[in-house]
Amino acid sequence: MNVAESYVRLVLAVGKHDADYVDAYYGPSEWAEADSGSVSLAEIERRAHKLVDEVGDASTLDPRRKAYLLGQLRALVARVQMLRGTRLSFDAEAQALYDVTPPVNTEQHFQDAVSRLDGTLPGRGAVPERYVKYRHQFVIPPARVDAVFQAAITAGRERTTRHIPLPPNESFVVEYVTDKPWSGYNWYQGGYRSVIQVNTSLPIYIDRAVDLACHEGYPGHHVYNALLERTLVRERGWLEFTVYPLFSPQSLVAEGTANYGIALALPDAERNAFERDVLFPLAGLPPSRVDEYYAIQTLVRELSYAGNEAARRYLDGEIDAAGAIEWLERYALMAPTVARQRIRFFDTYRSYVINYNLGQDLVRAYVERTAGPSADRRWAVFSELLSSPMLPSSLSELHA
Ligand SMILES: [Zn+2]
Repeated sequence: MNVAESYVRLVLAVGKHDADYVDAYYGPSEWAEADSGSVSLAEIERRAHKLVDEVGDASTLDPRRKAYLLGQLRALVARVQMLRGTRLSFDAEAQALYDVTPPVNTEQHFQDAVSRLDGTLPGRGAVPERYVKYRHQFVIPPARVDAVFQAAITAGRERTTRHIPLPPNESFVVEYVTDKPWSGYNWYQGGYRSVIQVNTSLPIYIDRAVDLACHEGYPGHHVYNALLERTLVRERGWLEFTVYPLFSPQSLVAEGTANYGIALALPDAERNAFERDVLFPLAGLPPSRVDEYYAIQTLVRELSYAGNEAARRYLDGEIDAAGAIEWLERYALMAPTVARQRIRFFDTYRSYVINYNLGQDLVRAYVERTAGPSADRRWAVFSELLSSPMLPSSLSELHA
């Protein structure tokens, strides 16, 4: 059995114990059928340690492939230990699973960002309540969600294909679902196909259309998975990429590229024009308010790490769910219903939250440092990143 097959079988075995673990698998079906349900966590851990040694000793393995497999396997061991009862702090877990050290921000940092918003946000009263009320004016009416979302997908796809030739016949379907801990999810099926689910339990604000379309679709998760399949699985035969373990360093690159890809596909000025000319009219919202709305969104983005801080304090046991909800309302400016959904996300995915904003910051720094200011070069570096085995720690070290 080669190392790729051993790795895939181990990931699938962990998936029998942890329903959220295997995000995608499109490799040989007999690898999924074997051993089903029969491998204990202790045995998986033993096999994983053995495989780490084997991969470490393999002298013929491509060095990037080897580093990647070792990084993924170390995270697999950490996840198995967590499933066996090991409790890690938020920071230790992020390091063990995602190969990064999350930054720490003080409460003062967020208070300052909220104060800056106070001067710009229309209305009176405390910023959190005022922002929730303000943003409520920009909800997409449910009957128009699909039309708006489809238009955003078309825009993301059109801009992506100008720079990245996609595999022929790549496609995805969109499904609308309810009662999930997330707002959107891409389920990659293999064969360049995805199912993208959008959670409609909570109101969908207009800015989420482009964000979700680019993040889940183009040039985000759908494109990332399709390029990995084409470049690594089909061209090189690296079958370890047919499985995607969610709680692993791969997720930082996946979420980071999916978020960075939003502004790469639609830079601010271009996005505002598209929102004004296409999406706001489709949603029945006033196009004259686009610039004002996105100026406020830019200030709100400075609060992006507030959610990580809530998660860290909550998961480390410093605050309870009520305290975390209060923090999210005050510093992440979430409506109470959104904050409660976010606690479900923390309970399910834990330190995974850092993959979105820290991932985005690391990917942006890597792409911009490597490519310089040229948009074409940035797309080229981004596309290369979407087609490579890359560990988060290498993202911050490499100067390609
Ligand atoms: Zn994502």
